[in-house]
Amino acid sequence: MAAAVVAAVVLVGGIGDREPGGFRAGSADLGDPYVPGSGNGGYDVAHYRLGVRYDPADDRLTGRAEITATATHGLSRFNLDLAGLEVSSVTVDGAPAEHRRDDSELVVTPARGLDSGGRFTVEVTYGGVPEADADGVLGSGGFQHTDDGAIALGQPYSAATWFPVNDHPSDKATYDLEVTVPDGLAALSNGVPGERTSADGWTTWRWAERSPMASYLSTLVIGDYRVQTGEHAGKPMVTAVPDGLPATGPAATSLARTGEIADFLTTRFGPYPFESYGGVVVSDSRIGYALETQSRPVYGPGFFRGGEPNYSVVAHELAHQWFGNSVALARWGDIWLNEGFASYAEWLWEEHDGGRSAQRNFELQYAATEWSRRTLDPGPGQMFSTAVYKRGALTVHALRRTVGDDAFFQILRTWTSERRDGTATTADFVALAERVSGRDLGSFFDTWLTGTAAPALP
Ligand SMILES: [Zn+2]
Repeated sequence: MAAAVVAAVVLVGGIGDREPGGFRAGSADLGDPYVPGSGNGGYDVAHYRLGVRYDPADDRLTGRAEITATATHGLSRFNLDLAGLEVSSVTVDGAPAEHRRDDSELVVTPARGLDSGGRFTVEVTYGGVPEADADGVLGSGGFQHTDDGAIALGQPYSAATWFPVNDHPSDKATYDLEVTVPDGLAALSNGVPGERTSADGWTTWRWAERSPMASYLSTLVIGDYRVQTGEHAGKPMVTAVPDGLPATGPAATSLARTGEIADFLTTRFGPYPFESYGGVVVSDSRIGYALETQSRPVYGPGFFRGGEPNYSVVAHELAHQWFGNSVALARWGDIWLNEGFASYAEWLWEEHDGGRSAQRNFELQYAATEWSRRTLDPGPGQMFSTAVYKRGALTVHALRRTVGDDAFFQILRTWTSERRDGTATTADFVALAERVSGRDLGSFFDTWLTGTAAPALP
């Protein structure tokens, strides 16, 4: 994302209870101290098929989620993350399953244990008035009712406020989504648009994200939007701005360069990783950030308030499609791998677009940096801090200065190619940079990512 606020919390992940017969409960947490309670152990989701109906008139959502997963050990029971909402039924492989709620956990006990390595399908029917997360790490997040519809958005989580999910980026999955809303409203989400149908005053919009996606990168935006559907580089391009904003205003003008900016980033980072392009501008002032929701970033209104277009934020969110989305985090402590590279992409774009050079931005930022704050593993309260974004970008440019342009861009392209559709850690990046450059970079990364004094200029 592109701007933020924070809250700090700590917790240790649970370990599943051992039970006879080789089956045991999956854990209610993945032990990531940045997001206590998020994610669940014991299975790996492959696909979410979601059917959601939402009526802005009474703010009620009804949903059906079909989740296809593989057990990673013999499972006697397992958890899904679901905040608020009421569950009316759960089946596992078609058979009714016991279920109970424990705060934001949905605990499911199938009729019989699930074998390690076996694929299973969970169906959950649920509904209610979604509860937004007003005090999220980023500010207001989750499924939020708006004047004209709703916006589901947030980092490091928001998905669990509108569907049951293994809510951690380490468990990526593909998605099919059908959203039914009153006729006349748009319902925008990730990926490739499908057929749109109407019946009895309701319209169903269909979206398919066929590349594995971290759950926090899912989004749903419902309301009065001017939707533009076209094609770019042979793939669907869907952009939307609120009906209330002018067609030639700064928001629409910024979004209009999405394809051009993505093409520029392709020349630096390698092939665009997804099957569709786009972006959505929202006007709700509670959204004080932009987020790189997969293949279709969502931009809050603040970025376009100056009356001028804002291409930096578009470059930032599009850079995340490679850094953060296609190559996702295995743990939140490595968030500089997302934000350092997306912030650096702003410098690359600015130089390309006739502005200040990346080297000049590096020099100015270096002089302004408070070196006591670390970039790697900054602590949950500092996930969206300058140390992650700007010192992260400094580290990226310092790497370029250290290994030279050829090796540097080879490192980036190798990273996005070898790790495409997967997850990775900082140690993985350091190892790859050393392999491609043929240099020992251990002390380089230590100094730039965690040192407490200004590093020598490379
Ligand atoms: Zn970002």
